[in-house]
Amino acid sequence: MRVGYGYDVHRLVDGRPLVLGGVTIPFDKGLKGHSDADVLLHAVCDALLGAAGLGDIGMHFPDKDPKYKNIASTRLLEETGRKIAHDGYKIVNIDATLVAEAPKIGPYRQEMVSVIAKCLGLENRQVNVKATTTEGLGITGRGEGMAATCVACLE
Ligand code: MG
Repeated sequence: MRVGYGYDVHRLVDGRPLVLGGVTIPFDKGLKGHSDADVLLHAVCDALLGAAGLGDIGMHFPDKDPKYKNIASTRLLEETGRKIAHDGYKIVNIDATLVAEAPKIGPYRQEMVSVIAKCLGLENRQVNVKATTTEGLGITGRGEGMAATCVACLE
C-alpha cells in the first residue's frame, strides 16, 4: 500500500468558466490557469502521482507546453491513471477536498465523483469529494482563489 497527497491553488478571475471536478459550474468567476485550471482534479493527479512516486503534475504536463493550453483536466487525470497503471499500481481510494467560500458544490458533488471515477476506471464508492470554506479567512475566504487537497491510496 502506498499513500500520496496532492495540494493545489488557483486564482479566481473574471471571464473564465468555473470547472471543478470535471464539472462546469455556473458562477461569476472562473479559475485562471494554462489548462482549464480544475484545481480539484489537479490535486487528485498530484496525490496519485505522489503515491506512485512519479513526481508531480508539472513534470508530466508542463504549463509551458502549448499541447496543454486550455486542456480539460479530465484528460490529464485519465493520462495520470494510465501512468500509474503502467507502473503496476491499482487505486484503492481517493479522498479530495475543495476549499472555497462559494459557490455551494453540494448539487454537483455526485457528478464530480462520477467523473473522477470514470476517468480512472473506478467505482464511485472508491472516490470521495467534499468541500469546506475557510470562514472568510485567507485566499479562499476572500474569494481570491480556490484550493484543493487530496489523499490517494494505491496498492
Ligand atoms: Mg493546478
